[in-house]
Amino acid sequence: MECVIVDGEVLDRTVAKVDIEDRGYQFGDGVYEVIRIYNGKMFTGKEHLNRLVESAEKIRMKLPFSTEELESKMEELISKNELDTGIVYMQFTRGTSPRNHVFPASDVAPTFVAYTRKVARPVESMEKGVRSILDEDIRWLRCDIKSLNLLGNLLSKQKAAEAGCFEAILHRGETVTEGSHSNISIVKDGVIITHQADNFILNGITRQKVLEICSNENIAFEERAFTLDELSSADEVFSSGTTVEVMPIVEVDGKPVGNGEPGPVTRNLQNLFKAEIERQCGN
Ligand code: PMP
Repeated sequence: MECVIVDGEVLDRTVAKVDIEDRGYQFGDGVYEVIRIYNGKMFTGKEHLNRLVESAEKIRMKLPFSTEELESKMEELISKNELDTGIVYMQFTRGTSPRNHVFPASDVAPTFVAYTRKVARPVESMEKGVRSILDEDIRWLRCDIKSLNLLGNLLSKQKAAEAGCFEAILHRGETVTEGSHSNISIVKDGVIITHQADNFILNGITRQKVLEICSNENIAFEERAFTLDELSSADEVFSSGTTVEVMPIVEVDGKPVGNGEPGPVTRNLQNLFKAEIERQCGN
């Protein structure tokens, strides 16, 4: 039996139900997180749960569980489903009430759903690198919130998939922001450059971990917006995210990045990131 959680209760997936007037279903009115599981253990779990609380606060939603409670519920689910390598997904919506743009009364509890899924590490893509396209960033101005509203992201990712590419690199005019489902960094003359954490990007937990590693290892980095010109003349480009880890991008809109192979700075970061996974979750 595959177990899921609905409103704090562990259930068989086949009997789990959410109301048709759930605000997540009708408005995308909610927030979510995805946490990586290696060896049955959550990687950077606390950081993800803290971001979940922050996202909820930003949309004026109060979560009915503390991060400690959430952590133990996720551990229970991972162990019930005997998950080794994969992800745990969780989302909170503003609850169920008759459809109305105005928030429901304060006694309407958020709906909480969580499930696990097996997801292998994308070792082959990480080894060879992946292709990308460019796409205009048409999303709203609060991309720092991990909201269920992902239409802008979906349209860009679909365009990438139809072009046989892994990611769409988004830009607002001349400024590169992030990817449709990951953060984007470039490397120029040994320096990593990635958009600053503001309202135009999701401040990825992987991005933050990579920058922490850079600080510890004395690898130079700059958190600032970079342009499409800087992207096209970069020595290396990589994407980072919970499921994709540190992913080399070797082509942008049909044009090779550098010599078209994953570069040494990205390779080094991949190794350091793997060491961090092993430090937290064992090997
Ligand atoms: N930006 C977007 C738009 C994302 O959807 C994601 C998550 N996959 C990221 C960045 C990376 O965030 P994280 O490292 O926390 O997974």
